[in-house]
Amino acid sequence: MSEILIQLSYLLAAFLFISALRALGRPDSARHGMQLAAFGMAVAIVATLFHARIVSYEWIAVGAAVGAIAGYPLGMWVPMTAMPQRIALSHAFGALAATLVGIGEYITGFSAGTLDRSTVAALGLEVFFGGLTVTGSLMAFGKLQEILPGRPLTFRGQNAANAQLFAAACGCMVWLIAFPTQLLAFSGMVAFAALLGLLFVLPIGGADMPVVVSLLNSYAGLAAVATGFAIDNNILIIVGALDGLSGLILSIAMSKAMNRSFGNVLFGAFGATAANAPAATAAGGEMSATTTEDAALRLAYAERVIMVPGYGLAVSQAQHQMRELGDLIEKRGGDVRYAIHPVAGRMPGHMNVLLAEAGVPYDKLIDMDEINERFVETDVAIVVGANDVVNPAARTNPGSPIFGMPILKVEDAKSVLVLKRGKGKGFSGVENDLFVDPKTSMLFGDARQSLLDLGLQVKEA
Ligand code: NAP
Repeated sequence: MSEILIQLSYLLAAFLFISALRALGRPDSARHGMQLAAFGMAVAIVATLFHARIVSYEWIAVGAAVGAIAGYPLGMWVPMTAMPQRIALSHAFGALAATLVGIGEYITGFSAGTLDRSTVAALGLEVFFGGLTVTGSLMAFGKLQEILPGRPLTFRGQNAANAQLFAAACGCMVWLIAFPTQLLAFSGMVAFAALLGLLFVLPIGGADMPVVVSLLNSYAGLAAVATGFAIDNNILIIVGALDGLSGLILSIAMSKAMNRSFGNVLFGAFGATAANAPAATAAGGEMSATTTEDAALRLAYAERVIMVPGYGLAVSQAQHQMRELGDLIEKRGGDVRYAIHPVAGRMPGHMNVLLAEAGVPYDKLIDMDEINERFVETDVAIVVGANDVVNPAARTNPGSPIFGMPILKVEDAKSVLVLKRGKGKGFSGVENDLFVDPKTSMLFGDARQSLLDLGLQVKEA
């Protein structure tokens, strides 16, 4: 394939990636977006295989086979609740590839005596962002998988130590640009970046890791951009820039929805809130427990119902039972909608993904701003394994750690039914006044079983 054809294929791949990102912005087109992205990646890979710099295909075939063997189970068998750690692992692999290409290019240039200042600048940035992302992502994976302690691990002078490491990496970069064949400077870049990745993620709580994973995604993108400049590959530059910026935008959006400043994500002991939060911010009061029969009777005769899924729904994998109950209520003439909070669950779009998997029609998945106006005219709001995203303290209690976080106004509904296992707190660790509100009834039990039982009773009502 001629160079022109390769570049035209890259252009097509870039167009497909940009279209994919656009499609991924809406649940009803997200699947199509993934297909476009996969096709774009196939075009880019095939075009690259015709590149003049490729001298033999054997090792490429081995790499592709190993990648496919590792990737298939990761894609097919990892449960939805483990998706954040799966993504962290993918970032580690992507960044490892970029770092190894950087090291390989440096060694090749070193041996051939062709290293110039601009090449080593690009290679330096590549291994810096790559090394940082590899260890940071592995650390995030370890915390999310609970191989490492999930709590924020802090020590005195942590930020100062990180700043010194960063300064040392910058020093190596300047040294390398001044003396491109200085092997020690290049090795220093790799070592300091890898150490910085570890220390950067150390003070971050396991449950807050998804925001960090998305930030590391952005770093992996920057590593790809640097790789693109280093090996003169346009598609890597374009894709890396898309990845870098979208990861950054996502991190900022998630921080905002969780009511945290972005600076706090980067430099605070992020996630410490959960551990340090006051035991109770609620005014106190008794929860009122209900039975499946009573709750089902109310649902069977309700005209307007809103389902509010949260992290507990994901834990109990109850999305299918939620949709089945919704269908049963609709069969009896009720109107059922599903309220989607941007950070319900533990990863962006978590509830969209689960409910789409269960076959809930997209037009019934309503975003927070729109659904909030509907709660006042709703007969029953069913909260399933959600806690923080429905905590009224976020609007009413300035002393609460979650004050200011946008929430679903479930308390505006005429009555509220909460399905959870017991009196467990949410991710933020604060009490929830909604659960002791006189119009709230609690149905204790695993979400999946409770929804199943409710479905059976509604059928018979
Ligand atoms: P949440 O505040 O974590 O509350 C989940 C509730 O589910 C718990 O109170 C728990 O109570 C219940 N639960 C757990 N397992 C259950 C089961 N098997 N059956 C029934 N109930 C179960 O969840 P949320 O309301 O979805 O809020 C998400 C939180 O995560 C927010 O604070 C958000 O800022 C944070 N976060 C989100 C993301 C993201 O990207 N989505 C990322 C990081 C952090 P019991 O123990 O009593 O059952």
